[in-house]
Amino acid sequence: MLDSYLPDPQIIAAFRTRQRRLVLMGVAWLAYGMAVLWSGWVPNSQLRAWLVGGFAPLAILVVLNWRCPKCRAGLGKSWAPFACPKCHTPFRDPI
Ligand SMILES: [Zn+2]
Repeated sequence: MLDSYLPDPQIIAAFRTRQRRLVLMGVAWLAYGMAVLWSGWVPNSQLRAWLVGGFAPLAILVVLNWRCPKCRAGLGKSWAPFACPKCHTPFRDPI
């Protein structure tokens, strides 16, 4: 079914960029979380507020980023979807 049409290299490149951005956001949040938890800059009573406060903008960025490069549909929870759940544009070369 899907092997019958060839993926567009531009779409694949755009998808990989989005995937890389997602990894960078995860790393950034991890670094932020570790800094908040272990640097000693944030008083214990404020830890939760700092963690949630850092997470909320990141969650928005993830939702904005994690979309199909072609139709802008959300890509859901899968980290490496084979194709867009809505328009079925393939994101990987068929092997
Ligand atoms: Zn799509």
